[in-house]
Amino acid sequence: MAERTTYDSNNIFAKILRGEIPSHRVYEDDAVVAFMDVMPQGPGHTLVVPKAPSRNLLDADPAVFGPLFANVQKLARAVKKAFDADGVTVMQFNEPASGQTVFHLHVHIIPRFEGIPLKPHSGQMEKPEVLAENAGKIRKALGS
Ligand code: 5GP
Repeated sequence: MAERTTYDSNNIFAKILRGEIPSHRVYEDDAVVAFMDVMPQGPGHTLVVPKAPSRNLLDADPAVFGPLFANVQKLARAVKKAFDADGVTVMQFNEPASGQTVFHLHVHIIPRFEGIPLKPHSGQMEKPEVLAENAGKIRKALGS
């Protein structure tokens, strides 16, 4: 039987949204913030995070999904262009059994290249300068 769970406003993404800890941001509007994943499964791995609090898709207000996925599409197009990728993987996990490790709803966007597998989920930390450079590429692609 699944444990009953509630939203914890001290999760790491809530702190990033409040600006209490740093992130390499690529986009922000009224509904979402997008920033680089610190343990990317591939170059350009980006997270799109709604500002509204929920643990994941299961407890989210459905009104969140329209603006969230419109932004996921916008970011997926920009990420594909920024890295000249062959494709884009979009992933989203719900509760620990599914692989979720941070309990604020978020969507993963990862550029994909023919024949190159994803690195492990929550694997190795990327260098800040690499994340900063990749964030710059995505911001540039969004702006053009
Ligand atoms: P989940 O497993 O919950 O779907 O994904 C959480 C993601 O957040 C993982 O891909 C992990 O690498 C990333 N992550 C964990 N801590 C931090 C952090 O402090 N900052 C950023 N930018 N990403 C994080």
